[in-house]
Amino acid sequence: MTTQYQVHGDIAVITLNNPPVNGLGLATRQGIAEGMAQANADAVVKAIVITGAGKAFSGGADIKEFGSPKAVQEPNLLSVISVLENSAKPVVAAIHTVAMGGGLELALGCHYRIAAPGTSIALPEVKLGFIPGAGGTQRLPRVLGAEAALNIIVSGEPIKAEMLAMLPGQKLFDKMSASAESLAEEALAYARSVADVRPLPLIRNLPCKHPQGDAYFQFARNMVKGMSKNFPAPAKCVDIVEIATQKKFDDGMAAEREIFMNLMLTAESKALRHLFLAERAASKIPDVPADTAQRTINSIAVIGAGTMGGGIAMNFLNAGIPVKMLEMKQEALDRGVATIRKNYEAQVKKGKLKQDKYDQRMALLTTTLSYDDLTGTDMVIEAVFEEIGVKEAVFKELDRVMKPGAILASNTSTLDVDKIASFTKRPQDVVGLHFFSPANVMKLLEVVRGKATAIDVMATVMSVAKKIRKTAVVSGVCDGFIGNRMIEQYGRQGGFLLDEGCTPAQVDKAMEKFGMAMGPFRMGDLAGNDIGWAIRKRRYQEKPNMKYSKTADLLCEKGRFGQKVGKGWYDYVEGKRDAIPNAEVVTMIEEHRKALGITPRKISDEEIVQRLVFSLVNEAAHILEEGIANKASDIDIVYIFGYGFPAHRGGPMNYADQVGLFNVVQAMNRFALNPLDDATFWKPAPLLAKLAAEGKSFN
Ligand code: NAD
Repeated sequence: MTTQYQVHGDIAVITLNNPPVNGLGLATRQGIAEGMAQANADAVVKAIVITGAGKAFSGGADIKEFGSPKAVQEPNLLSVISVLENSAKPVVAAIHTVAMGGGLELALGCHYRIAAPGTSIALPEVKLGFIPGAGGTQRLPRVLGAEAALNIIVSGEPIKAEMLAMLPGQKLFDKMSASAESLAEEALAYARSVADVRPLPLIRNLPCKHPQGDAYFQFARNMVKGMSKNFPAPAKCVDIVEIATQKKFDDGMAAEREIFMNLMLTAESKALRHLFLAERAASKIPDVPADTAQRTINSIAVIGAGTMGGGIAMNFLNAGIPVKMLEMKQEALDRGVATIRKNYEAQVKKGKLKQDKYDQRMALLTTTLSYDDLTGTDMVIEAVFEEIGVKEAVFKELDRVMKPGAILASNTSTLDVDKIASFTKRPQDVVGLHFFSPANVMKLLEVVRGKATAIDVMATVMSVAKKIRKTAVVSGVCDGFIGNRMIEQYGRQGGFLLDEGCTPAQVDKAMEKFGMAMGPFRMGDLAGNDIGWAIRKRRYQEKPNMKYSKTADLLCEKGRFGQKVGKGWYDYVEGKRDAIPNAEVVTMIEEHRKALGITPRKISDEEIVQRLVFSLVNEAAHILEEGIANKASDIDIVYIFGYGFPAHRGGPMNYADQVGLFNVVQAMNRFALNPLDDATFWKPAPLLAKLAAEGKSFN
């Protein structure tokens, strides 16, 4: 049962009980409607209280029902709210902990509301690309005023009930309870106190005006312009709250419905809903049951205090987990610790970190030069030089000193995790944890599952990832794992585009207009062009027949490694990120083109975007087919959280689905005919060809 019905004297109490957050799924909605009918039919009952069991009043829609027919099946939320409004006996919502989305809308349909201090109030729908659809946009302005209501609706952010209760003239809460514990008792008493009051108050009957009307809403529209760039919903939030101030309640409700339905159908909302579910799905691994017993991780060791080691250590310090850093030399340790200090001090200066928190974090950090000091730690993450010989030496030492059952992780970005595991006598305890740079900032973590990695190691590192606030995606072992294996093809296409007639700035602009945080050449400058160069040199040996543009090599031969040396595809002024186009680089590209006998052609932005994005998609289809990624949505998460792919496109796989896989394959076939491109690469991956032929999609 997802609702409970009890009678306390003359008051009926309907308690939502659908863990974890009392989502308003079909059974719960039915339970409320049935409880209301029972209470109204019972002559003993004088008033009704609706509340939630456990950790919420209600978090809103039940995400398990997302997109399923059950989500709209009667009684839908609008119908349930209408049952509340039409009740002959007063209904009091007793709100605590969380009242969000549909949960808040349910409370707004009640005659009275009593809230416990600490309750988070929110209408987060805008974050999924739509607006509240069960009266929230029409009722909230009537109880809070248009301005406060619009703030809540357009930001989607939670705000504490006690702050709202202080707003002058607010009618959202009729009463605040003294504490969360006393809410139930106070709600019963309050219900008794209003049991005989008639007429029953309804929010729909309250007036709604803004004193500055037009001017205020114009102002609000200008304010949300920035956030509306790629998303239509924020501007619609302004429209619908303005309507609340202009039209009759029922007309406002009709307008809300229409906007809600239209936004639900937009590509942007579909993308955001896809990502919402994809992020949750990423933490689930098909053959690792949710109840797998986990190893205890209360302390961490990090080997190597360089760029990555320092950032990795900070993640754990931030989460209150002690870290021991090991290096070969004291100077390297001192440098590593100094960098961590500098990072934290910058946060303290900006007011983002309190001094006492900084002190607490630094107190959790210890250093050592001796492996024998690591025997007590539960997990170690290696971040030393990317050379297999160095990794071998480190893992042999770790195998010698780490206690049985400790997890041995490597942050390698290109080396074979199975090979690294083979340096130990406990390959089942070895796993790849591929952090992205800067490791204390980037949300993505690729968890690289070796052939022998134990199931409980996988379960443990996925939950450790959550503790350090990373979004973890599982990858199998292959060169580059999911993200970098795909980006290699993207980079190769970027090179061909230069050879055929583009400038780096043209390519970057097209991709940034598409929504990428950075185009491929600005990204190369940020990551260091020498890294790609080293990989290509290896490829020239391994795959002599693979086609490459040589332009990036010429750039590297000039020492233009990127931002770290102040020059790459662009020039940089010290301390600034602005990319300034460089005439010499453009001439270098032109001369190389001439030497190859290529007549440049004008390439459209559309072709640039398609070639770059579909190169990701085709490689991703191979990755899926080989089982390197468990599901297409994992690949979307990798690109959204690790590579600056635009959220409103929902990731490369979701974007391909929206374009239609048939169309994607058609485009690839066209690209294959271009003699300056790589026809072999553009042969659609078998999985992609099959899905396209069957009219199916990845996700
Ligand atoms: P780095 O050169 O900045 O740091 C490496 C550190 O390891 C140095 O401080 C060095 O003194 C130390 N070290 C070397 N050998 C050691 C040993 N035997 N014992 C103890 N310490 C030793 O390198 P980085 O950029 O931090 O990269 C480290 C690892 O992380 C590499 O495997 C790299 O591929 C991977 N990685 C790097 C990035 C990135 O963007 N830099 C991203 C993801 C993964």
